[in-house]
Amino acid sequence: MSDPAGPLPRHLLPDNASVLPDGALAVGGCAVADLPATYGTPLFVYDEDHLRARCREVVAAFGDGVSYAAKAFLCLAMARLVHEEGMHLDVATGGELHVALAAGVPASRLVLHGNNKSEGELARAREAGVGRTVVDSFDELDRLDRLHAADGRVPAVLLRATPGVEAHTHEFVRTGQLDSKFGFGVASGDLAKAVERASASPAVDVVGIHAHIGSQVFVADFFHQAVEVIAPWVRDFDLPELSIGGGLGVPYVVGEEAPSITEWARTVLDACRAAGIRSRVTAEPGRAIAARAAVTLYTVGTIKDIPGVRTYVAVDGGMSDNPR
Ligand SMILES: *Cc1c(COP(=O)(O)O)cnc(C)c1O
Repeated sequence: MSDPAGPLPRHLLPDNASVLPDGALAVGGCAVADLPATYGTPLFVYDEDHLRARCREVVAAFGDGVSYAAKAFLCLAMARLVHEEGMHLDVATGGELHVALAAGVPASRLVLHGNNKSEGELARAREAGVGRTVVDSFDELDRLDRLHAADGRVPAVLLRATPGVEAHTHEFVRTGQLDSKFGFGVASGDLAKAVERASASPAVDVVGIHAHIGSQVFVADFFHQAVEVIAPWVRDFDLPELSIGGGLGVPYVVGEEAPSITEWARTVLDACRAAGIRSRVTAEPGRAIAARAAVTLYTVGTIKDIPGVRTYVAVDGGMSDNPR
């Protein structure tokens, strides 16, 4: 573990971060201290080659169908980049759907998520021809029935399972346990009911099961546990697809280390093979693609020194650009 007061370890910085001869930080060859003169602060600076390298790594590991979770970072250029690198794109709101379509990503490469998709958002996604809808609740199945009655469309869906795996991550970003706003509980019997209902419904085409156990998961074994819980459903119903979601942890501070995308994929794919799954196995990383690729620039303003206690250095940003 490195010294918290020492220099920032390389593995927390973008791949193409470097130190210039005068000691200043550069990203992708650009001296970051020069950028505020043109762009102001706070300013997100992304290393494009880093983003592309992570997309390539995950596509090599999982193959076609692997999706970038847009909430980790989305703008028109980012949507185009992940599409160019062969990833699909997860969107979770009408706004994200709009950005992806405006960027020219074909709707067939989009996956629609969310525990409270409105009828309007679902209708927009059907009109556009979104490739996959991840159904989160019985209320959503009701909405899809009503829309089917109106337009006759039959979207390809995955059913989101809540596998009951308590990944050791912060409770606010943990989603795989039974008490979750997301998905159909496996232990409660809801997933069984959902599979039965959706398989018999003319309104949806069930192509698979989805599970996302949370974010900032550093221990690959939690994904293994989730696969073991979900596997019987995928196997017994002979569903062509399984998505294991995202959630691979990324280090933000000194002392944190995470498995690589390749190591994570190997754990997931080995677990699926061991569980007898022959379906297409895919995933939806967000942070693992985008987080380390960026640095945020701020301008120092007020400095308050409390002698013998500490010095507060205020910058021109906060929770809106750098949430916990
Ligand atoms: C947030 C989220 C992801 C991505 O999570 P990361 O921690 O950014 O990898 C993937 N799938 C779903 C459904 C999510 O909500």
